[in-house]
Amino acid sequence: MKDTVLAMLRCPVCSASMQADESGRSCKCTGVRTHSYDFARSGYLNLTRPGDGEGDLKEAINARKLFLNAGYYEPLSNAINSILDSLMVKTVLDAGCGEGYYTNRIAKERAVLGVDLSRAGIDAAAKQAKQNATGAAFAVGSIFSLPTGDATCDAVTNLFAPCCESEFSRVLKNGGHLILVGAGERHLMGLKQVLYENPYLNPGRADLPTEMKEIDRRRLSYTVTVEGRETIEALFSMTPYYWRTSEADRAKLSGIQTLSTELDFDIFIYQKGD
Ligand SMILES: [Zn+2]
Repeated sequence: MKDTVLAMLRCPVCSASMQADESGRSCKCTGVRTHSYDFARSGYLNLTRPGDGEGDLKEAINARKLFLNAGYYEPLSNAINSILDSLMVKTVLDAGCGEGYYTNRIAKERAVLGVDLSRAGIDAAAKQAKQNATGAAFAVGSIFSLPTGDATCDAVTNLFAPCCESEFSRVLKNGGHLILVGAGERHLMGLKQVLYENPYLNPGRADLPTEMKEIDRRRLSYTVTVEGRETIEALFSMTPYYWRTSEADRAKLSGIQTLSTELDFDIFIYQKGD
């Protein structure tokens, strides 16, 4: 784990800062009780507290990996990276990073910590980081009580995960940026046209920050052709429709080998003020 990332961490039990153990196999807090946390074999830390709950299970993570690694969302990942470049961001916390697709791509130029409640997600993310030597670090933890100290990050990224403004604001340095991504109104319209007779436009994120200052809002949209049943199913399983589509409507997808659909993303940039 990079020193810059280690310096961002705080103990989930006593909130003291953390330091590496001489062995390199664990890190410990600087509090009076010296809480110790072992690195998992794939390299992540478990910084959850009792009652934090559980995140996505392995099946959901594997579906996301399959779909994202096919590259359909790469333009979004590139857009996030160029925003971080333009803001000259050095340290990033990716809040709700899942399987770490975006996190590992952000890490090529910066010190990054990805946090998610899903142990399966963080394990997959850490394995990817190891395999490709991306330099990203990962911790299992709650985005509603982040395992990072006050004012330790230049930027927080929050992609398709719940927004917890007070917590993001706490960990951001003064003048730091929050970059949020949500589904735009026409996101996955092609998929919805297959599933539903009268597909609606998406309503947009309802959990946008109210205290931090919005400095920019962008839209990224393009059309892709998703190839193969397995990949189409994987995409479907990542959507909220997966849980609320009837068996009859669901069956409409099963005969399809290619799916042409719009992808439409809303990107919001906020800044923490004085
Ligand atoms: Zn501690």
